[in-house]
Amino acid sequence: MFSFKPFLDNKLSSSDFLVRSTFGVSVVAACILFPFGINNFLQERYIGGVITIAVSTLFFVNSYFCWRGKYILLMNLICIVPCIMLGSINALISLGVTGSYWSYLSVLSIYFILPLKIAKYASIIFFIGVTIASYYSLEPSLFARFVAVLIGICIFTYISNYEIDKNQTKLKNQSITDALTGLLNRSTLSQHLETAIVDYTNQNMPACVCLIDIDHFKSINDSFGHNVGDKVLVQLSRVLKESFSKSVKLFRVGGEEFLVLVPNANLETSYKEIESIRIAVENADILQERAITISAGISSVERVNDWKEWINAADENLYKAKHKGRNQVVVG
Ligand code: GH3
Ligand code: MG
Ligand code: MG
Repeated sequence: MFSFKPFLDNKLSSSDFLVRSTFGVSVVAACILFPFGINNFLQERYIGGVITIAVSTLFFVNSYFCWRGKYILLMNLICIVPCIMLGSINALISLGVTGSYWSYLSVLSIYFILPLKIAKYASIIFFIGVTIASYYSLEPSLFARFVAVLIGICIFTYISNYEIDKNQTKLKNQSITDALTGLLNRSTLSQHLETAIVDYTNQNMPACVCLIDIDHFKSINDSFGHNVGDKVLVQLSRVLKESFSKSVKLFRVGGEEFLVLVPNANLETSYKEIESIRIAVENADILQERAITISAGISSVERVNDWKEWINAADENLYKAKHKGRNQVVVG
């Protein structure tokens, strides 16, 4: 079911491609429109001049934000795209064939300044508007050719942007994921921890970090080989994924070391959760030849100033768990 919420939350607007393409389209559109606006004034068409200069300025402002790395979805959706659509349809109605060329450029612009999922709907609306306008403005033979080319441009642009979008998502996921286990790698760790610290500071929302380390993992490698060691890592990751809800973030932070960020949990609840996972790992049939055990150290967001301190506190507790004989969880 189509929902506007993710678009309004700006979740889809963060792609580098969208920011860069919107920047490019906005700069070019502003530069193209500006002389037309001046010309309108020189020809004493003051209303047209004011509108053209205003739209050109809007494009300049949009390009400025994109240049600063900020894509403003509402500005593009509510101001820029309607201007493109109405301007293009107006050119078609008032100039006929000569004005129809703008429609092709407009479809391309829509796809390059809106997230793909919205651009798809915007281009359909634009296509309907332009088709109706061209039906009344163009001769029948020209109308058919015009609409056929417009359909082609809409579909080809959609396909090319769909492929760009898909590949970008794939590359982004690869860059933040550990290839062996499918868990998150370290690249976004500080970002997640900083967000949790801000949530605690602003909303008093508790959170805990848990560092988990496999006990005597080196001897597993030494006894059964590196491949078996890898399988143990994959199996343990599966146990972790199945044990936690989706709001819990799981990272592989080192060879056989994992970090769990448990949101909305204090030390007591986190301890209970991690302890039950420790028991589950011990009893899971990860390796037939010997039981796999883990040690864990937990620390709460409440006592730390920054994310590094938070991890260090968990690491100290992990060290204590190892020192006390392994296969246990230490909180503090
Ligand atoms: P402790 O109980 O104190 O944690 O002992 P340990 O043997 O688990 O810890 P140690 O740090 O001595 O050894 C970790 C080993 O993990 C050494 C390294 O070869 C192995 N390792 C690191 N990354 C990988 C990996 O991706 N695959 C495999 N199979 N082994 C790895
Ligand atoms: Mg270890
Ligand atoms: Mg280790």
